[in-house]
Amino acid sequence: FFLSFEGGEGVGKSTQARLLGEWLRAELGREVVLTREPGGTTLGMELRNAVLHGEDLDARTEALLYAADRAHHVHALVRPSLARGAVVITDRYLDSSVAYQGDGRDLGAAEVEQLSLWATEGLLPDLTVLLDLDPLVGLTRLTGDPDRLERAGDAFHARTRQAFLDRAAADPGRWRVLDAARGIDEIQAEVRAAVGSALGA
Ligand code: C5P
Repeated sequence: FFLSFEGGEGVGKSTQARLLGEWLRAELGREVVLTREPGGTTLGMELRNAVLHGEDLDARTEALLYAADRAHHVHALVRPSLARGAVVITDRYLDSSVAYQGDGRDLGAAEVEQLSLWATEGLLPDLTVLLDLDPLVGLTRLTGDPDRLERAGDAFHARTRQAFLDRAAADPGRWRVLDAARGIDEIQAEVRAAVGSALGA
């Protein structure tokens, strides 16, 4: 079973992914692989560092580096884990590229989706949880030194939020949209209910 968390900055994706993983292991006895993009592999960490903290990149170079990270991630970690029967939970997947590079950086959603599907040989999550939050609230939750994209500006983040919502509305079978302005436990209860029913638990 393949699950992705999507959403903007500071919406709580990594916290929700970790809590869900703990529950799946403890309560359902499942093997869980928690991972993320960019940076789910050793090569991916190098690509993450290059794209987030290296020299300024044009939008196409950025999109190709995310696609390379994703191709390797799927080949080296996601598919082998799914083949063993593990639940794979990824903090971001190809919908982030469609939203950030496609709509945020204006490369075109259809083009970036096509690139991502080529990179992954068409692998889509069974379920995608969108943690939806006003980007101005999300950005104030972040601590530490903001990376390049976190400084990209309000209009950019508003476009990516809308891109996620539009994608979710277009494919309600794959997506669950949750209001991320609420408390961690309340959101986690809804995440567990959605995942539990998708797993038939
Ligand atoms: O969520 P995480 O901290 O891993 O994201 C790192 C940064 O990479 C964020 O600023 C996010 O907006 C950006 N990103 C992106 N395009 C992707 C994936 C992440 O711009 N495809």
